[in-house]
Amino acid sequence: MTPHNKAATSSGERLNQYFSLLSSTASWKEILEELFLVSREDFIFDNLVIYQTDFETGSLDVLFAKSTGRGKSAEADASWGESLANKVIHENRMIFEEPGGEGLKDRLAYPYILGIPITPEVKLPGVLVFIRFGGPTFSDEDCRYAQWTANLTTSIVRKKLLDEFMSKIENIQSVTKLQADFISTISHELRSPLGFIKGYTTTLLRTDTNWDRETQKDFLEIIERETNNLTDLIEDLLDSSRLQSGQMKFDFHLVRIDSLIRDEVNRVHLTNPEQKIELDFESDIPAIEGDPRKLAQVFDNLLSNARKYASDALLIIKLFKEKKHLIIEFIDCGPGIPKIYQPRIFTRFFRVPEQSMKAHGTGLGLFICKQIVENHEGTISVSSSQTGTIFRISLPFTLAARKITAEESV
Ligand code: ATP
Ligand code: MG
Repeated sequence: MTPHNKAATSSGERLNQYFSLLSSTASWKEILEELFLVSREDFIFDNLVIYQTDFETGSLDVLFAKSTGRGKSAEADASWGESLANKVIHENRMIFEEPGGEGLKDRLAYPYILGIPITPEVKLPGVLVFIRFGGPTFSDEDCRYAQWTANLTTSIVRKKLLDEFMSKIENIQSVTKLQADFISTISHELRSPLGFIKGYTTTLLRTDTNWDRETQKDFLEIIERETNNLTDLIEDLLDSSRLQSGQMKFDFHLVRIDSLIRDEVNRVHLTNPEQKIELDFESDIPAIEGDPRKLAQVFDNLLSNARKYASDALLIIKLFKEKKHLIIEFIDCGPGIPKIYQPRIFTRFFRVPEQSMKAHGTGLGLFICKQIVENHEGTISVSSSQTGTIFRISLPFTLAARKITAEESV
């Protein structure tokens, strides 16, 4: 906002000042500040308060208060106009109250109060209250001027309400979109294992065919695998909502991260012997405080992501110390994650659109990883280009906020 010019201003210039205020892109608070600075040149007051009905609670709250002197803070003075404001709302008209006697000695004890209704929204009435301590009384011309200022105030408060409504609508839209995406992802993820289970069960139950034992075993193995997928999916959903609401319980021990990663890699090799993984661990890696099961879940998701989205590429896992932190890096030479999607990669249910057809997933894995790492007072970040992706985890050797529950090494 441009600084206000204190020199005498013609009525044309004044009008121009008011209109440029109304079209200003500054915040509603800055516009109100400027409005009352300008209007005080023509209309004297000590304090003013804007009371506005709150959209959610329906109560009359102080939206804005300004004190132009007389030794009191604007907030403390806001109570001067409270009962008058309620009366103005109730009667929906301008009301003027003046004290009995003259406040020559203690001006603060003699408030002249003028309240004018403002109605930025029909259901959200408000009041603009002006106070003059010790007079002079408000003349007819003052009242006209106050009404004109109240009209401008109404437009500015309306702008504020509209901005708030807009941001609420945007929030609702993004939540609705997230829910719609969630329902379509989950339906797809539920349907595909259920399809396998139903298909192979029906096949096994057919009375017109006798399956040999080997084939029966193959079919049952598929049914078991798909049932496990369903269980994992439901576990992920439960974990993500427990983590989101802070209900997840952590069981901290002294953990050897090097052994934990080796165990996970060995487990992966049993089911996916073709996945190329190289370990590059610094020697003398100390045990750190952590929940071994939850950390294993983090490594498991990063291993499974590398398998799904960088399938033929080599994955290098680095482990090294950096000051008081342990750094774990998962480096793959896959196709990478486009830059525009990188900031959203740790958000619940987010999947890169171009990759979502490549492999099954719900977009919960990295969200869960981030929550788990942050519960260890650590960080997880991604850097990615067309030649590969690096997920970097930093975990403190010891936790500042939490105590480990058992002094045992895992
Ligand atoms: P879930 O882990 O819940 O089964 P998901 O693997 O799709 O599903 P995340 O692990 O959260 O979910 O990963 C989010 C998205 O990030 C993935 O869908 C994929 O698009 C992208 N992504 C993750 N890791 C890699 C990677 N190493 N290379 C390329 N893209 C990746
Ligand atoms: Mg994943």
